[in-house]
Amino acid sequence: MAHRNQQATGYRPWQTQTRSDVRANADKVSKLQADYTPQGTMTEHCSICEFFIPAKSNRHNAHCEKVASQNGISPKGWCKFWSKR
Ligand code: SF4
Repeated sequence: MAHRNQQATGYRPWQTQTRSDVRANADKVSKLQADYTPQGTMTEHCSICEFFIPAKSNRHNAHCEKVASQNGISPKGWCKFWSKR
């Protein structure tokens, strides 16, 4: 069930990073540095954050302008940089 839900939200932690992912992540902080968690709250989560970059399609991961996301950012996630869009 969780697996199906993660696909629907564009969050696929098992997907390997591409070269463009490596370039895009160069100036970002790590998930650890950002205190990232894949489970935010009802009122504070990635999909309503100003730094969230939605997945281009169901075959891509969502990303973040601030936090490096080799395996994608969950729309339901959260980190200490959260800022309402
Ligand atoms: S800054 Fe943090 S809360 Fe906002 S989209 Fe990026 S990871 Fe999610």
